[in-house]
Amino acid sequence: MPRFVSTIIIGCGVSGIGSAALLKRKLNHDDVHIFERYAAPAGVWFANQYPGAACDVPASLYSFSFAQRRNWPEAWPGRDVIQQYYESVWRSYGLAPKTSFKTEVVVAKFDVHTNLWHVWTRPAEQPHHDVRKDNNPEPVREDYAELDGKAGYEHWVCKVLINAVGGLSEPNKCEIKGAENFKGPIFHSARWDTSVDMADKRVVLLGNGCSGAQIVESLSPRVKHITQLGRSKHWYLPVVNLNAKYFRIIGWLFPGFMRACVFFLLEYHFRAFRRTRGAKQRNAVARDSAAHIRKTAPAKYHDFLIPDQKTLEIGCKRRVIDMGYLEALNRPNVDLLASGAKEIKEHSVILDNGDEIPADVVVLATGFSIRASGGALKIIGRDGRDINTYLSEEYQEPSTYRSTMITDFPNLFMVMTGFNATTGHSSVVFTCECIIDWMIRIGRDVYTDKRVPTKAELEFTDPAKPRTSRPRFITVEPKRKAQEKEMLWMQEKMQDYVFATGCGAWYIDPKSGANAITYPGSQVDFYWRSRFPVWQDLKYTNLPNGKTQPRIGWVEWFGNWMGWGEVDEPTTVIGRKMVDGRIVDSGR
Ligand SMILES: Cc1cc2nc3c(=O)[nH]c(=O)nc-3n(C[C@H](O)[C@H](O)[C@H](O)COP(=O)(O)OP(=O)(O)OC[C@H]3O[C@@H](n4cnc5c(N)ncnc54)[C@H](O)[C@@H]3O)c2cc1C
Repeated sequence: MPRFVSTIIIGCGVSGIGSAALLKRKLNHDDVHIFERYAAPAGVWFANQYPGAACDVPASLYSFSFAQRRNWPEAWPGRDVIQQYYESVWRSYGLAPKTSFKTEVVVAKFDVHTNLWHVWTRPAEQPHHDVRKDNNPEPVREDYAELDGKAGYEHWVCKVLINAVGGLSEPNKCEIKGAENFKGPIFHSARWDTSVDMADKRVVLLGNGCSGAQIVESLSPRVKHITQLGRSKHWYLPVVNLNAKYFRIIGWLFPGFMRACVFFLLEYHFRAFRRTRGAKQRNAVARDSAAHIRKTAPAKYHDFLIPDQKTLEIGCKRRVIDMGYLEALNRPNVDLLASGAKEIKEHSVILDNGDEIPADVVVLATGFSIRASGGALKIIGRDGRDINTYLSEEYQEPSTYRSTMITDFPNLFMVMTGFNATTGHSSVVFTCECIIDWMIRIGRDVYTDKRVPTKAELEFTDPAKPRTSRPRFITVEPKRKAQEKEMLWMQEKMQDYVFATGCGAWYIDPKSGANAITYPGSQVDFYWRSRFPVWQDLKYTNLPNGKTQPRIGWVEWFGNWMGWGEVDEPTTVIGRKMVDGRIVDSGR
């Protein structure tokens, strides 16, 4: 017999922990269960154990507003401190007995006969610290009868499904020719092999993004030699020293005030991303970054390190806060080469130009595959299609409502896994809290409904079978028209920002050419849209007493009346052509 819990959360990172904690705080709802693939909480902060791993936003903003700390050991703490912080929040909200580690969710199916989600889990293979052992997750058949019978598989049922699998949890695979022949350790930065003694080793490090920079700075004093290979340019900005005594005193006395100061300072930086009006500010940032690079890094690297605004606008990639990387490039045992690797041999790496670099250890700081997030997970909605197929067949562009919901997937909330939720200038934790806040506001009646399914309702019903009774459980989902309007608005609004100037490939949806990642607005704007749901955009079923609108507070009612959460009617800057709500010409 399947087990019932009111809310299932997939993933125990910042988003999963934040969802469970805020449901408890705001609604006293604790009938939740979290499934997590890894062996411990905190998501990327558990997985990324590479030397130098740290967050690029001061801790006061990279922490929950409802769990502020006064005594951060450093303003920009390292990975261990952040992991311990999120683990402590997870513990303090009593989530330990409500979490299954080393367990992955493989299938989630909506039952149209009951309005319940059915979830199947299996023991998760733990990540390998060796890229040669990487394999694709074992695919799953979606046949529910077969899943129920499989050894190791468990069947759960819930009313609400929260997808918090994160976008940066699947490292890019190593596709370099010959990697399998390498005789030493070879691993991804997110799969760091802590058992390898790095002393006296010649390390070849592929990648010069945030992780690559942190590794060079932290690892170079401990190894014989490190050669960093990089093809891409980044805007490096000097770190602001917030460890000074007076900042620490303010942070201790008024943690909320400190958090607000950091937030608004970063919001000021966002102004530079405005395509036309931000040009002056971008030029100033570019000048500061170039001056910092010239002052700190060896002259031989200046040409490679300093980006050209014509090919890389500020804001197109997350800026790299320089915590000592450029200084480390002066060390005699560090080489930076503007090249990629075309082959890996038994004891060396071959560069694009054919040069051979001897290597005892190869580290890949080559980023993550956002499209592979969730691993084998398939989420199947009302009409039997999985989410990816549904989205690509129904909408020609990345489309989620408030970056959180999709039509035909009732009671499914995507926390930081919907489109256009990411900030390039601020803390993901802030964005994540806004999304959870919205999810709780609009789902209040679903969460607080105390009814539980009968034995018969716990069985998954074949969708092809005729319904014998009406589903009783409450659902909420966006109306299709509202989701379409938001999709159009999103990409039109994007034109106002540098995000539409051909930014790096990972922002762009390969099929439509639309930006699927960044939110085209400030975080104040993001907050505002979460604070004031647009109730007429949402469709509810089975509310008590035959109502069609949920209970709402007077502030929300007033915000709705004022239209504060609404998006503008999209103008046609791009020139898209629509027929019956479908894009027939993308205008690109
Ligand atoms: C190295 C690194 C540094 C970063 N630094 C910053 C920073 O400084 N500032 C910032 O704002 N952002 C930063 N980020 C972005 C970061 O992703 C977010 O800030 C935030 O931690 C995301 O949390 P999350 O819970 O959404 O996702 P994650 O932390 O990725 O958590 C998702 C969890 O879901 C689990 N999971 C996935 N699929 C399944 C499944 N099928 N079944 C069960 N469990 C599953 C994963 O194992 C993972 O633990 C950084 C990211 C990385 C990788």
